[in-house]
Amino acid sequence: MSFRAETQRRRTFAIISHPDAGKTTLTEKLLLFSGAIHIAGSVKARKASRHATSDWMEIEKQRGISVASSVMQMLYRDHVINLLDTPGHRDFSEDTYRVLTAVDSALMVIDAANGVEPQTRRLIEVCRQRDTPIITFINKMDREGRDPIALLDEIEAELGMPCVPMTWPVGQGKAFGGIVDLRAKHMRLFRAGEDRVTEQEIVPLSEAQALRERFGHDFELAEQNIELLTEAAPAFDREAFLAARQTPVFFGSAVNNFGVQEVLDALVDLAPSPAPRNAGVRIVQPDDEHFSGVVFKVQANMDPSHRDRIAFVRVYSGRYTQGMKLKVQRTGKELRPTSVVTFLSQRREAVDEAYAGDIIGFTTHGGVQLGDTITEGHASQAGLQYTGLPFFAPELFQAVELANPMKSKQLQAGLLQLGEEGAIQVFRPQEGGPMLLGAVGQLQFEVVQHRLKAEYGVEVRLMPSRFVGARWITADSPEELKKFTDANASKLALDAADTLAYLLTSPYDLRLTQERFPKIHFHPLREHA
Ligand code: GDP
Repeated sequence: MSFRAETQRRRTFAIISHPDAGKTTLTEKLLLFSGAIHIAGSVKARKASRHATSDWMEIEKQRGISVASSVMQMLYRDHVINLLDTPGHRDFSEDTYRVLTAVDSALMVIDAANGVEPQTRRLIEVCRQRDTPIITFINKMDREGRDPIALLDEIEAELGMPCVPMTWPVGQGKAFGGIVDLRAKHMRLFRAGEDRVTEQEIVPLSEAQALRERFGHDFELAEQNIELLTEAAPAFDREAFLAARQTPVFFGSAVNNFGVQEVLDALVDLAPSPAPRNAGVRIVQPDDEHFSGVVFKVQANMDPSHRDRIAFVRVYSGRYTQGMKLKVQRTGKELRPTSVVTFLSQRREAVDEAYAGDIIGFTTHGGVQLGDTITEGHASQAGLQYTGLPFFAPELFQAVELANPMKSKQLQAGLLQLGEEGAIQVFRPQEGGPMLLGAVGQLQFEVVQHRLKAEYGVEVRLMPSRFVGARWITADSPEELKKFTDANASKLALDAADTLAYLLTSPYDLRLTQERFPKIHFHPLREHA
């Protein structure tokens, strides 16, 4: 198969939802329908009770789980589908944002009873910023939920784009009769599913009379609504979907295997294949023959005696083949992975070859960090640097105090590595003094404290800090910058990438400082450059 054909048959998407909407269940059913697994239950088994607890045992478990099942590849209708899971806990939302930079589309799961929930809202914002096409799945139709039209209205308002229903439910809750496929013009009758794919009954709409008799008022109401929608809702327009100007909507019940096939087909038929990507010096085409990709996630090994890490790389061009020479663009150094794996429905396997859209994992002992561009080092790739991996200004700060001052070297090494993984942000105050940790969620501190001890043998105390926020700084001119830094030395720090940041002591602080220094720019987001 040509490079071009290999790329075009790939679909890489993230599955997003508020906890409990049914993300894990749907993931599992997608694997089931694609034939990647035969009995449901294997994904579920790996899911820990991840919302409740804040103790680090749970966190460790989560790390294990996310290594095992955060990327899954399946083959369906001769297409290669890469599914990326996103962490459920809101304290790790930064990870999720980064995962969203590595996909070409998103599948949003909504609980029919709850509509758009807070966590979904935040994820939507990120998708919107990047114009990521979104497919919507309204789950749990077998339970009493909100009126479908009201749900569509809400989703439309939150997304800021029209919903285009591709299927329509007949009844809901106990009376859920099935879904009408609006394009195929048939109804798929609901039957409570088991953990296997079973035959489902399909009745063409030409037999509407029989359906009316069978489902009574529910079917008639569905017919009326469908008619209403045909007039009121825009027609599905693939261009508009790809430009994130409308979202196709599917109804179903993941736990019952119902409506899942339609979603899988939509991924193949509607979702985009890998797009060209901005790499600073030029736009890289997915079928460019030279391999390149970006590290969007770094995960430390679960076994603390092995100091190795997996760098998850989203491939943007070319083909990766086993044993290929690789270069880290940032340092110009060769990356020598101890192994390179691919993720087949939760199994890790040595990768044979990978193309644009695929995710591969490099196991290394260092030398890579989040956001790094990896290439095969061909002359045509000089200067390539993919942009867009976001770092968010932390909102929580704590100062690090060593229990044993002799361990300062280990502390530096540990914080450097944890910083490179994106587990925490590390700031070095310019005037000296203890290092500062910056986080978006409180749990991140606990993870870091625990891991410093377990993996680096360093015990630290975390002390309150007077800072409540940070902004990365750029200036119109070096003179302006100097004026600013001279006046604010006690509140300046460098982050892990040596980017200058201004630390805020109060919400007013930012406004006042901005007024005093109009030629200084304060950025709440830093993109890896
Ligand atoms: P996640 O947190 O989004 O991954 O949600 P899960 O997939 O773990 O689902 C949360 C709960 O909802 C579980 O108890 C599922 O069995 C249940 N669930 C998932 N899909 C459905 C559905 O279609 N109908 C009903 N009634 N329950 C569902």
